[in-house]
Amino acid sequence: MADALRIVGGTVYDPINGIDGDIRDICIENGKIVDTVKEDAKQLDASGMVVMPGGVDMHCHIAGSKVNLARKFQPEDHRGDVHPSTRYTRSGTGGVVPSTFATGYRYATLGYTTAMEAAIPPLGARHVVEELNDTPIIDKGFYILLGNNVFLYQLLEQKRYDDLRQAVAWWLNASKAYTIKLVNPGSDEAWKGKKNQNVKDIDEKIHFFDITPREVIKALIDVANDLGLPHPAHIHCNNLGHSGNYRTTLETMKTADGRRVHITHIQFHSYGGEVGKNPTSAAKAISDYINTHPNISADVGQVMFGKSTIMTGDAPLAWMLRNVTGGHTKWINADTECESGCGILPFSYQQHIYTHALQWAVGLELFLLADDPWRMVLSTDHPNGGSFMNYPRLIRLLMDYEFRKEQAALANQKAIDSTGLLDLKREYTMQEIAIITRAGPARLLGLADKGHLGVGADADITIYDDKADQETMFSAARYVIKDGHLFISDHEFCADHEGRILHVAPQYDAAIEGAIKPFFSDYYTIQFNNYPVDEHYIHNHQIIPTSASA
Ligand SMILES: [Zn+2]
Repeated sequence: MADALRIVGGTVYDPINGIDGDIRDICIENGKIVDTVKEDAKQLDASGMVVMPGGVDMHCHIAGSKVNLARKFQPEDHRGDVHPSTRYTRSGTGGVVPSTFATGYRYATLGYTTAMEAAIPPLGARHVVEELNDTPIIDKGFYILLGNNVFLYQLLEQKRYDDLRQAVAWWLNASKAYTIKLVNPGSDEAWKGKKNQNVKDIDEKIHFFDITPREVIKALIDVANDLGLPHPAHIHCNNLGHSGNYRTTLETMKTADGRRVHITHIQFHSYGGEVGKNPTSAAKAISDYINTHPNISADVGQVMFGKSTIMTGDAPLAWMLRNVTGGHTKWINADTECESGCGILPFSYQQHIYTHALQWAVGLELFLLADDPWRMVLSTDHPNGGSFMNYPRLIRLLMDYEFRKEQAALANQKAIDSTGLLDLKREYTMQEIAIITRAGPARLLGLADKGHLGVGADADITIYDDKADQETMFSAARYVIKDGHLFISDHEFCADHEGRILHVAPQYDAAIEGAIKPFFSDYYTIQFNNYPVDEHYIHNHQIIPTSASA
């Protein structure tokens, strides 16, 4: 049980509770924010510093088989960036895809206390849980890939909507996941079944089935809403990276028909232009739609110049990128025994390349055109658009127009000039940064106890030195508190901590197992009874209630 603590005199940014840079005390006891503590409670002097809720990353890739493959085939990345142990913390390796321990510690150093792994085939859930158990300090959860699930396709084809809902609820329970993820829905059958092909339009028929990607998208958006999941269906749209793909993105958003949906790394889905030609920016069209449709939320998936690693359930995309790099890069396709596609390759975004500079500018445009920062939150789709360690620099790009202009001047001018980036003089305020990095993602995830500092919230708190250079300021928190425990003090680790796995447990009719079992016997490489992840396997966890079961 954590001691009581009073954080005194800090400048507090707590957007959910309408606190915008006010100087006030924050009291914590037993891991939660409380109204007040006893006079003789310990004090932490935060005067002259900025106090915020712990950061929440709603879309990153930090655990599971694809992350491990990416680690394995970039040994040079780890050799060059050893993460040493301290008296309190374990060692690890860094690079763009850090090891489990380093991942937890590095997020914490930036002031993040929650991160969600965004793409897991349910068959790999047990491995993910093992790795997340070994990712210290932060709370975490994961989304399961269901947009290419053959059993669900069969139910949909037979119009068995109620069974579909029961089956999805069963899958979420069996894997201990947080929500439903769709990646390039319909593409696996074209990729695996028709040999290296892809879906081009969400209204074409899925190979082998009498359904379309749009029907899959619609059905899973409905299921997530009907089950009352705290976070809706989380969608990586079709045609990622292709010129002209903003039309697919708009059609996907329209398919929600007013129901809640989250479109992820939307930067990669906001390109104009013609197929096969250079992309242009369609950030304005995408922003206009989102600004006027409150049922839609998105994270940006900002591209940052430098090294990244592509790791995706979108196998045809990884194949395309492997080919644009001339086929000289390492590349893995690992989607056998996997209820998804999968492709991985090391990548590097370079300022002088037209497409990369355009992607960088489109991401920034999406941030700067967002009327409602609560629904356009920060991500780099770590490590796809770049490591999460780039967040401090990204924050400075949003807060500092002159810096943005300087950086734009170093990039491909044909690309920059083709966008509206330099006309956007908006500078994010500290409050808006608090929204896109913690309050907004927490709200979109339906995490009522996170992203704010009101009474009853988890005592996940970050205190930054108030510096004029925001990149320096957000690179290393002065103090970080998780569940009421102080574990970074004066920029140094002073303790270790084990975070929780956050998952949902929607109710379902057990009769659905009678339909799923024979499918396992016929197609799976694992027995039905060995598939579900038992509760005892996730030793430290928290069930986030669905609105149907709350
Ligand atoms: Zn992703």
